[in-house]
Amino acid sequence: MSLANRLRAEAGIITENVRAETPGLVADLLRAEQVVFELKAKIDNRNEIESRLLSYNPETGHDPDCPYCWLLNGQQSPVKPVEEPGKADHYGCKTCGFEFIDRLTQG
Ligand SMILES: [Zn+2]
Repeated sequence: MSLANRLRAEAGIITENVRAETPGLVADLLRAEQVVFELKAKIDNRNEIESRLLSYNPETGHDPDCPYCWLLNGQQSPVKPVEEPGKADHYGCKTCGFEFIDRLTQG
């Protein structure tokens, strides 16, 4: 086998190795793109928190909206009294699990 043929064979081996690595690299790229997409969405959401704070009004409607659900997700979810013994001053959100103890309720 001539030097040229040995180098062609080596080039074939290199090519096969690169081909074998490509699917893993593509999968890595897709995961990285998904992370970038999720981070951008999270940053966009966080940038909206200032305007949500300005529009947060717990005095409208029958039950006040949960501040966590509104500020973090723009979602209206009521904060209602927790109906458990000994928790007369507790209010909770069933959407996110936020629980608030209103010390002024008891006087
Ligand atoms: Zn909530």
